[in-house]
Amino acid sequence: KDTAATGTGRVLLAAPRGYCAGVDRAVIAVEKALERYGAPVYVRKQIVHNVHVVTSLEAKGAVFVEEVDEVPGGAHVVFSAHGVSPAVVSAAADRGLQAIDATCPLVTKVHREATRFARDDYQILLIGHEGHEEVEGTAGEAPDHVTLVTSPEAADSIEVADPERVVWLSQTTLSVDETMETVRRLRERFPSLADPPSDDICYATQNRQVAIKKIADRSDLVIVVGSANSSNSVRLVEVALEYGARAAYRVDYASEVRPEWFEGVETVGVTSGASVPEVLVRDLLADLAEAGYADVEEVTTAEEDLVFSLPKELRTDRNGAR
Ligand code: SF4
Repeated sequence: KDTAATGTGRVLLAAPRGYCAGVDRAVIAVEKALERYGAPVYVRKQIVHNVHVVTSLEAKGAVFVEEVDEVPGGAHVVFSAHGVSPAVVSAAADRGLQAIDATCPLVTKVHREATRFARDDYQILLIGHEGHEEVEGTAGEAPDHVTLVTSPEAADSIEVADPERVVWLSQTTLSVDETMETVRRLRERFPSLADPPSDDICYATQNRQVAIKKIADRSDLVIVVGSANSSNSVRLVEVALEYGARAAYRVDYASEVRPEWFEGVETVGVTSGASVPEVLVRDLLADLAEAGYADVEEVTTAEEDLVFSLPKELRTDRNGAR
């Protein structure tokens, strides 16, 4: 409170933060579909796991549904960035829906790995969170070959049919450290465990974790902007605490920040999940400045310039650039 009174508080702003290439593409896909086809455009599940993004798109005419059987026959439906199983793709086709697939290409990559290892008759140990849409989509590529591993502890009791023919894959938005611990424990039990051909945890998840690690132990308080169902945002809170932040909280909006969090706090670390528009971080910084935390230092640990072309159903030029 002294800090607030004197206005000497500092903010360490993590970079990279916020939108990744897959989220940017998925949100633009819904906007373009609305422009091209007019409202309503249906979206299966939240296009990305962010309350503000979903509410804003709803206001523009997007209608979010849980399953394709809620979409009127013949209508346009966008599949979310988290990906869908082949069963969902066929259900949409059976209803005569015009599907626009906004699955992040980095999720599609994991789907392809799952299909390939299943074809080669591997048992796939998929590290991820039960019930998460991405996990359901990836597992749906090869349901008979996938065993879900939900934590490092769970690795100790997984049963496999042939320990010589197992591979691990993962959800794209996990904690890197925790996933490596899960893999270590799996490999202890199954030394022949094969690795994915490339990292499944995506560049955006990794970069945001590296950035928060860098500022966590210099921060008395870390505030992560992101929604409760956003896996990568929730991981950022955990990573901040593991790496020395005295306290860390997640908020959807600046208005959720509580005055009591600032007791004795001089330095506030700020970051945001991969599905979070920068405007929400700007709102938080404005409120922090008003509360006496006006000195903002951006701490950059990587530059990101990846851009994905739009889903093929929406590409207008022959190169697929938008
Ligand atoms: Fe794609 Fe990673 Fe963004 Fe998910 S977090 S949409 S996998 S880039």
